[in-house]
Amino acid sequence: MSKEILDNLEDILKRIERACISSNRAPEEVKLLLATKTVSADRIKTTLQAGQKLIAENKVQELKQKYEALKEIPHTNHFIGHLQTNKIKDILKYDVTCIQSLDRLDLAEKLQQRLEYEGKTIEVLIQVNTSEEESKFGVHPDQAIELVKQVAQFDRLKIKGLMTIGLFSAETEKVRRCFRLLKNIQEQIIDMNIPNVDMQELSMGMSGDLETAIEEGATIVRVGTAIFGQRIYPDSYYWNEKK
Ligand SMILES: *Cc1c(COP(=O)(O)O)cnc(C)c1O
Repeated sequence: MSKEILDNLEDILKRIERACISSNRAPEEVKLLLATKTVSADRIKTTLQAGQKLIAENKVQELKQKYEALKEIPHTNHFIGHLQTNKIKDILKYDVTCIQSLDRLDLAEKLQQRLEYEGKTIEVLIQVNTSEEESKFGVHPDQAIELVKQVAQFDRLKIKGLMTIGLFSAETEKVRRCFRLLKNIQEQIIDMNIPNVDMQELSMGMSGDLETAIEEGATIVRVGTAIFGQRIYPDSYYWNEKK
């Protein structure tokens, strides 16, 4: 079991390296994030012990369940799922350093309030729905810049970049369009020089499309299935929740 995971991990690291080289990028520019939804703490541990540092859950419940078991091994937790405002307190308890899925103003407001109260700050990425599929969360591309400007006013939230889930399609050029759109929005924001906004991170690309994402400028690729195997639940279970 763990041998399989380690072999898969090695394959992914090679894929990332090859994609970087073929698009003239330094492999250090692209971080691997392990998407660990439905994966047991033991299996996650295997990857952390092999030197992986960055993991992310989609649900606060799973973050909580695995927290104790993973605590002793140094790593960084991001959050990549739809975050309900009533879960904010919980998420701050479990050492999440970055919420990659900030996609609406009311969530930002409530985060700011709670962070002020706790005397903390948190990093965020703005999630953009580049495929414009209804099943996916994320701010509409036309409203992304406005949301960034609004979130920038909240001093407890440190914007580090943008995140997207590309279109699920076997047609690479359609997927590429999503990533290119995200890059384009990033460039527009950089040109605006908004105070309290860093735009270095582009979190895009998953098991099936990470090469395309890296070609289009990804700095974080989020991989689950290709390392841990197929999940029992369909992704709609994670991405189709009622808002
Ligand atoms: C599950 C998930 C991933 C990883 O997807 P795979 O296809 O399993 O690699 C990436 N990003 C988000 C937001 C996810 O929920």
